[in-house]
Amino acid sequence: MDNMKLAELLFPDITKAPEEYDSIFPVRNLAKDARVTRLAPSPTGFIHIGNLFSAFADERMAHKSGGVFYLRIEDTDDKRYVEGAVDTIVNALDYFEIQFDEGAGITGESGEYGPYYQSHRAEIYQTFVKMMIQKGQAYPCFLTEEEINEIRAKQDSIKANPGIYGEWAVSRNLTYEEIEENIKSGKPYVVRLKSKGAAQADPDNIKTITVADAIRGDITMPENNMDVVILKATGIPTYHFAHVIDDHFMRTTHVVRGEEWLSSLPIHVELFETLGWDHPIYCHTAHLMKIDEEGNKRKLSKRKDPELSLDYYRKDGYHPKAVREYLLTILNSNFEEWRIANPDADIDEFEFSPEKMSNSGALFDLNKLKDVCKDVLVKIPAGELYEFLAGWAKEFKPDVYSLISKDRGYVERILDVGRSGNKPRKDLIYGEQIFEFIKYFFDKHFVIEDELPANVSAEDAKAILQAYLDSYDHSDDQSAWFDKIRNLGTELGFAAKPKDYKKNPDQYKGHVGDVSTVIRLAVTGRSQSPDVWEIQQILGADRTVQRVNAYKDKL
Ligand code: GLU
Repeated sequence: MDNMKLAELLFPDITKAPEEYDSIFPVRNLAKDARVTRLAPSPTGFIHIGNLFSAFADERMAHKSGGVFYLRIEDTDDKRYVEGAVDTIVNALDYFEIQFDEGAGITGESGEYGPYYQSHRAEIYQTFVKMMIQKGQAYPCFLTEEEINEIRAKQDSIKANPGIYGEWAVSRNLTYEEIEENIKSGKPYVVRLKSKGAAQADPDNIKTITVADAIRGDITMPENNMDVVILKATGIPTYHFAHVIDDHFMRTTHVVRGEEWLSSLPIHVELFETLGWDHPIYCHTAHLMKIDEEGNKRKLSKRKDPELSLDYYRKDGYHPKAVREYLLTILNSNFEEWRIANPDADIDEFEFSPEKMSNSGALFDLNKLKDVCKDVLVKIPAGELYEFLAGWAKEFKPDVYSLISKDRGYVERILDVGRSGNKPRKDLIYGEQIFEFIKYFFDKHFVIEDELPANVSAEDAKAILQAYLDSYDHSDDQSAWFDKIRNLGTELGFAAKPKDYKKNPDQYKGHVGDVSTVIRLAVTGRSQSPDVWEIQQILGADRTVQRVNAYKDKL
């Protein structure tokens, strides 16, 4: 077979020599250890926490090493293309402070290694497919779907491995004339790699390859022997081929991708070898898992778990800093230890390393995220927190926005309740929750939510509230205020200390805690809240007295 002639027959329009691409996409001028990483999503419009997880690893690896992190859009499957998907990706990641240095972007592409959309790179791919044809490393295959099914059925019946390889790869043997004939008659065809891998016939003597994965260490797998499709009938490459060309010419040093790609690693290794290039360092991340309601560990699912979508965190108002902090706890096993040793350090100071990533199902736990949020939010000054809350509300809760933007000083004081001192309260978690938590400060949202304590009758509660009003002095400091509560409680038959009540429950109606709860209910509508004195100071004397009166009258 004259391969040169065959290549011309198949790709008459491809005229560039492959070598030209070496000068079009020169080796990047970066420090020796700089890492070049990429996020390579399909533009399906759905961006999930797994994408953020990978992107965060990519971004850390690139930016901690003085390298480059770029966005490549893998849009070879046009069925899955969704309009605006790039904006969604860029905006979603930007919210979590992840920015690309080059690649696809909202206002177009930037960088010297593009195009960054695979759909615009057909000529590059075809140049290398043509080269492989010339070298006898690839061939056109005209098998129809039915023929492939027949082959599969035969393989099944003799218990041979399924697929197009070795003797089953019948199009390998076509003559030039036969191919020409097929082409002339318009028969569709794909281009397949002519794999050099041996048929793995002898199970005791399987040929293997070993690849050093940055997360998993050395991985040994059977070598590839499949004549995989590299170019589809449409002239568009498969993922296998496209990523090899792109990661080589975009000069990617590290490929972070999900473990679902692990099984095709031997194909990728063979493709890199065939093209005469070193493959990048692969980092196969573990799936994000959760423990479901039944206590089973399973993969996060698009259908069942709304927390898989990144939108979820924005809509509910999770602070990006907290999500970043949490993701690092699952990304790198030594992060939490580092955080304990460096409680106030900027997260960017942490040395991220792929070797410290889990290789066995990283557990994603919303409750743990909430705990991390509490720790992170308690350190954010009230002014900054206000801005975050207002930004979130403006986008997702306009009515909340109009309420909180009326008096910024008031809301900042609310957000700061109980947060000073050496044991600050960690009540604030995420936008939606924060508003729920503080909404009683706004008359429009103030309602009595809870019941009186079981041991306090409505009559007693009325008496407590009347006595409270009689003695109320807004300028009392916290201890004078509490002394008054204790005194009025004892006068009405409540023990001054819970332990006195516990010892002699028959002698009292309850204890000072019950008295406070009645007042708390009147002022906040809830039986639990931060310090009532502090709350009253923010509400002001008039509003406090008015609420206590209103509750008293309602009882
Ligand atoms: N387009 C592939 C995906 O979305 C990318 C895999 C990779 O990062 O190489 O899964």
